[in-house]
Amino acid sequence: MKYFNLRLFKEISFLIWLLLIIFISIVSYIVYSNNQTRQSNIIKSSFENIYLKKIIKEITTNLEPRYTTINYYSKAGDTYESIISSLLLDKEEKKLILDTILSVNSLKILRINQRFIFKYDHLSEKKVREFIIETDKKNEIIFSKKINKENFNIKKLEKNFQKNLVYKETVITNSLYNSAVSLGIKPNIIIEFARLYGFQVDFQRDIWKNDSFQIIYEEFVNENNKVVDTGDIIFASLNLQDTDLQLYKFEYDKNKIDYFDENGKSIKKTLMKTPINGARLSSSYGKRKHPILGYTKMHTGTDFAAPTGTPIMASGDGKVTKAGWCGGGGNCVKIKHNSSYQTVYAHMSKFGRGIKKGVRVKQGQIIGYVGSTGMSTGPHLHYEVIENGKKINSQKLKLPSGKILKGQDRKMFEVSKIKIDVLKSNLISKMN
Ligand SMILES: [Zn+2]
Repeated sequence: MKYFNLRLFKEISFLIWLLLIIFISIVSYIVYSNNQTRQSNIIKSSFENIYLKKIIKEITTNLEPRYTTINYYSKAGDTYESIISSLLLDKEEKKLILDTILSVNSLKILRINQRFIFKYDHLSEKKVREFIIETDKKNEIIFSKKINKENFNIKKLEKNFQKNLVYKETVITNSLYNSAVSLGIKPNIIIEFARLYGFQVDFQRDIWKNDSFQIIYEEFVNENNKVVDTGDIIFASLNLQDTDLQLYKFEYDKNKIDYFDENGKSIKKTLMKTPINGARLSSSYGKRKHPILGYTKMHTGTDFAAPTGTPIMASGDGKVTKAGWCGGGGNCVKIKHNSSYQTVYAHMSKFGRGIKKGVRVKQGQIIGYVGSTGMSTGPHLHYEVIENGKKINSQKLKLPSGKILKGQDRKMFEVSKIKIDVLKSNLISKMN
């Protein structure tokens, strides 16, 4: 009995093992073959996609759209004439557009940062069928023309935007730009913030981790509560290692806006020390062996090494007295700021948009880009400051500060400052 049982057990266990092996083989075969077809399907579909994409790319890149749109923001020194003449249109059409604009009374004065939108129809003989000029953030004038009609219809339109005041604050963790972006601050506000502080702060060297800033600025939202544009910075405070730099927007005269510190002093200096961002001072003012001529010569400017194409700013408000070739200086720009100060910027790769002799420029405006034209061993900006006809060391220059508000202006400023401070507390309390 015992013997029999053992035999039976052996046979059954053999059978179980056999069944188990067959079962495992079937399962693994199914899994394997399923996988095979899936793999080949993936390869097939991705191949089809690449093929399709290639075709889509080919049929789209060779085609020109019928309608194109050109956006332009007016800059210092622009006129309606200069803007229209830069368009790719025939003479007659340019004249029609210019005459149409000049016939509108509310467009008599062209301000900086006015937006122009030109819509081109490449099928029609006269290309511009519609163009729009924004007179300010909330108003625009639409010029449109029916097919085969000669003249434009002029329509004024008030945009249904709501102006909101936004308060943001943060501790700077990696860079000012990244911290601002992560708060949702729009790039043009960040650029304006950097431009305003550019006279006091060297963004490469003065800002440290855990410094902080606060800002109030205007934002325009449409009916769907979507931000469509930004306006002015109203207030900002940059809290650096051992200084707090505050600035308040103030209208000190009709339509004349500037930024002042808490003591009513304009944050602008008459000249910037370093009219370029992120550059390294590579050669200072004084006697040195000339890198190309080889002999010792007075270096009458300051050199800042920076990559080709880095924007160069006007170091102060003024009038361009030269924008052209200066021999050893290559492409250069000269600016007369007032009766005593002039500045020179040499070796540029190209000039800023609209920069030519006679044009007025604003401090911080881009007048050209770093290059290595003329007598130069590598891309850099050669910057000269001329005081009463004599070249001086820009880095030792005791910079005369800008406007200080006095008398009635100062009183008005104090009132406006208090209003802004109250606004700030209100905005902060709304955050919590
Ligand atoms: Zn130099």
